[in-house]
Amino acid sequence: MSTLADNLSSIRDRINRGAQAAGRNPADVRLLAVSKTKPAAAIRELHVAGVQDFGENYLQEALTKQQQLIDLPLTWHFIGPIQSNKTKAIAEHFDWVHSVDRLKIAQRLSEQRPVGLAPLNICLQVNVSGEASKAGCAPAQLPALVEAVAALPNLRLRGLMAIPEPTDDRNAQEAAFAQLRQLQDALGLGLDTLSMGMSHDLEAAIAQGATWVRIGTALFGARDYGNA
Ligand SMILES: *Cc1c(COP(=O)(O)O)cnc(C)c1O
Repeated sequence: MSTLADNLSSIRDRINRGAQAAGRNPADVRLLAVSKTKPAAAIRELHVAGVQDFGENYLQEALTKQQQLIDLPLTWHFIGPIQSNKTKAIAEHFDWVHSVDRLKIAQRLSEQRPVGLAPLNICLQVNVSGEASKAGCAPAQLPALVEAVAALPNLRLRGLMAIPEPTDDRNAQEAAFAQLRQLQDALGLGLDTLSMGMSHDLEAAIAQGATWVRIGTALFGARDYGNA
């Protein structure tokens, strides 16, 4: 077996064991392979091994790889910070956006979603306590943002996303993910998606209700950002 297929099988094991430990159906936890900085060939190989969904953080890099993989029926997720001047290409070339944290970006994505494409699936990124990236809307502002985004015609609000502070403390991991789940529950809208959990904390995220785990390093190996 190649390394990628090996890694995929370990991740699937971790997801299955995590779901079982939490009394959840493993099929309710979906794998988003985070392929930023990784070549199209690696995505192709994982697709052959059964992965459908890929997450990218950098628009230009993603568009290049999408062109190289145009023959494959992949589902593309944008998960990185979004500047206004990137919304048009994101609206045109992605199926999901996990990192929407302000109304202006959501409005532009809705306006710029091409006619004839399904509504763009949206997760709102929330800055749960100590979120490492500092991106995300403040919990107190979430209800107003949710209400406004839910009214936009070409978006489909699916749920919430967070990137908590990295920690090895399982209790701290679960506390951050529980906060996101409770925020979602408090909305009372029956949203079906919680995008949370990465290579180092997916078990804690699954225990707290994750429906997408976003896995980069544990699938593709360490990222090399070059010597620039
Ligand atoms: C890079 C990234 C990931 C993957 O992180 P790993 O620790 O490599 O699994 C997940 N989510 C987001 C938003 C990322 O930017």
